[in-house]
Amino acid sequence: MTPFSLHAARTSDQAMALLAEHPGAALLAGGTTLLDLMKLDVLAPEVVIDIRRLDLASIARHGDGWRVGALARNSDFAHDPEIAARCPVLSQAILLGASAQLRNMATVGGNLLQRTRCPYFRDVRYEACNKRRPGSGCAALTGATRMHAVLGTSSQCIATHPGDMAVALAALDAAVLVRGPEGERSVPFTEFNIAPGDTPERETVLGPGELIVALDIPDLPFAAYSKYRKVRDRASYEFALVSCAVALDVQGGVVRQARIALGGVATRPWRCRSAEAVLRRAEAGPDTFAAAAEAALEGAVTRPDNAFKVPLAKRALARTLAEVAEMAEAQA
Ligand code: SF4
Repeated sequence: MTPFSLHAARTSDQAMALLAEHPGAALLAGGTTLLDLMKLDVLAPEVVIDIRRLDLASIARHGDGWRVGALARNSDFAHDPEIAARCPVLSQAILLGASAQLRNMATVGGNLLQRTRCPYFRDVRYEACNKRRPGSGCAALTGATRMHAVLGTSSQCIATHPGDMAVALAALDAAVLVRGPEGERSVPFTEFNIAPGDTPERETVLGPGELIVALDIPDLPFAAYSKYRKVRDRASYEFALVSCAVALDVQGGVVRQARIALGGVATRPWRCRSAEAVLRRAEAGPDTFAAAAEAALEGAVTRPDNAFKVPLAKRALARTLAEVAEMAEAQA
């Protein structure tokens, strides 16, 4: 590990001042991503700012939803009784991520900034990685791509976004509250992560000196009928091949509203607005769900290793839509 200097902040103001003083510093919260990548020499910050003592861990009602502090632990977030009852998709997504030990350490803000699991990104013996070394190329394009993305890719990077919680947040229209040198701003979650394009090293809209303060989650009444499905190679402690977050409002056999996002298949949490449009005011049945799944995967660009993700995602989504519709109808 490359030597670095460690600074501890006790307040947000101190953290902001340290960030201004040390541009390029890394923030230490749960440490579940940062320390791994530093040990692998993938990240070598000269300065690390420890923000663990900041008062940003509360989970409370706020406006017409909840405000979750950036330092709230993933496990506390997932097990919050109101969140679990009103937004099961979110609770399920968090609990299907990582392991119990990691969820106890990881923070909500850190989870939003976790890095891709692309093996070429995480192994410095591979020189070509545009995300790690801008302009160096992409080893994945001529390598193993079974876990890589089929949506939102570019000629510079095809790395999959690794999140589970993020997929549910994209479906639920959450927002990220950010504090920076110019004050606070709220970023719709669907705009927080950016596709690789020509700058894969840039993964979010966070600007220099900005700090994630909280997540705002709306209390959508129909999110009580929601589900997160994660398809993976083994049942625990594994990243998604395909995942889907679904919430539906179904009344009298007709879909009134739908929220859908996909994970494991895209370079960022993938909100499926075209699939939602197919569902809106349509009969809640297998043909509609199949058509929505087709729309969700429109534009997918596959490689021989990862082409299986397209039919897998369509089947997983259609099945999840059917299950959530049945649940919503039963409660209506
Ligand atoms: Fe790097 Fe992206 Fe290529 Fe992976 S897919 S090697 S992260 S540029």
